[in-house]
Amino acid sequence: MNAKEFREFGYAAVDFIADYMENVHERQVLPSVEPGYLHNLLPSGMPEKSESWKNVMKDLNDKILPGITHWQSPNFHAYYPSQSSYPSIVGDMIANGLGTVSFSWICSPAVTELEVIVVDWLAKFLDLPAFFLNSSDGCGGGMLQGTASESMLVAILTARDQAVARLKIDYPNMNESDIRGKLVMYTSDQGNSCVEKTARLAAVSIRLLPVNRNLSLCGKNFRIAIEDDIKVGKFPFACVATLGTTGTCAFDNLLQIGPLCRENKIWLHIDAAYAGSALCCPEFRPLMQGIEYADSFNFNLHKWMMVNFDCSAMWFRDTSKVVDAFTVDRIYLRHHVEIDSKAPEYRNWEIPLGHRFRALKVWFTLRIMGAEEIRENIRNHVRLAGYFAELIATDTRFEIIGNVLGLVCFRLKRNCEYTKRLVNILTERKNIYVIQALYHDKIIIRFVVNGLKPTEKDIEFAWNEIRMQTNEIFKEISPMKIEISKSKCLIDFGESVQVASADHLFAIK
Ligand SMILES: *Cc1c(COP(=O)(O)O)cnc(C)c1O
Repeated sequence: MNAKEFREFGYAAVDFIADYMENVHERQVLPSVEPGYLHNLLPSGMPEKSESWKNVMKDLNDKILPGITHWQSPNFHAYYPSQSSYPSIVGDMIANGLGTVSFSWICSPAVTELEVIVVDWLAKFLDLPAFFLNSSDGCGGGMLQGTASESMLVAILTARDQAVARLKIDYPNMNESDIRGKLVMYTSDQGNSCVEKTARLAAVSIRLLPVNRNLSLCGKNFRIAIEDDIKVGKFPFACVATLGTTGTCAFDNLLQIGPLCRENKIWLHIDAAYAGSALCCPEFRPLMQGIEYADSFNFNLHKWMMVNFDCSAMWFRDTSKVVDAFTVDRIYLRHHVEIDSKAPEYRNWEIPLGHRFRALKVWFTLRIMGAEEIRENIRNHVRLAGYFAELIATDTRFEIIGNVLGLVCFRLKRNCEYTKRLVNILTERKNIYVIQALYHDKIIIRFVVNGLKPTEKDIEFAWNEIRMQTNEIFKEISPMKIEISKSKCLIDFGESVQVASADHLFAIK
């Protein structure tokens, strides 16, 4: 392919993306394919001869698109958003065009320096503690990682390195592998799956601590765990606290957890993958109380800040610790320029050697959207989640478990079977996509606002789908079945289930 053909191909690709984004709401949000569908559509080996890009684009439409789940659709209400934007898409396209691999400052000074600048912009935008700024006088600093998982692994590996160095001095008779074997980290039982994966990769033990009624980790349970572990000779060394858990968007109590970390020399990593973006709105900043205890913090721009996947911003209180843990020197990595906080060697803060030019898509997004539009996007999502909760509240068959930021958790009253059933039916119909989660022992449905510019209409569409399918469920249930499901019920709200209740509830709708 030459530059002339690339122009044609590239313009066609931009048209494709624009058409896709403009019309994504009209597509069924979930694909209708069976596992392995693509095996039957594509040859088992690559072509020997060059093919025209037009043929490939045709196959993209005919064979690949049918297997896409539409994350940018306003009818996608599962997980958390992965909201993209036009400036971000173009930023990534140009970064790909430049094709840099920036493992040191000299490999593209602008890649490092733009990242230093945009990460400081972000820290100020979220009003993070000043010690995190690259431009601060202290040792703090920030960068862009790919994902929350990678940020967390980097934080925990750094914490482990610190702890081992300290414990070797405190326990001169113990060898390093014995020390490592006794390290233990903590998170709540609501922490993202990646916290547990991090512990496995870092080869340390982890305790998933019980939470309070609001599914938030508080000081008491944390203190008990630390004391128990110290008693049996373990070394508590790190804690991952979550601002906005994946299940229900619960917030751990940093004001209680933070001081315990300080007292016990425990590294505190704060995972704010989804909720972190909301801190750009002053009205949501109270959610961040206690953040000043953090040794490291991350949030995903690729979730709720209109930057496409992948992009997770991460900050350290003291960057010299990660540099100590990660630096491996080689003569070919050296260059003659003095490194300072304006030009850090990001390869020493991350797992890969090569560093992607993510800062470009962030810079494009922050400038072309501006702070006002980004705040407005978040406020719109929060407002629409509130609207959805209001709609749910008009129907007595439902119970709202919680509404935090852009997430609403709800369930059908009385028993989990109905709720599970509703999720299954909605998934089969593919008009909207929601997933289930657990609130204590109860099955709940998570509803997240999503889409480029979602409106009341999108919320009403989802609500109608949910309401109509609930009608169908209650229509099917005979009085006999109610008795059966009641006796099998995992959770009973203590309400007296009357035999006629299903029909009655159906009748009042
Ligand atoms: C989504 C999410 C993650 C995982 O994010 P990745 O960037 O995919 O690793 C971690 N923690 C929380 C709280 C999340 O919501």
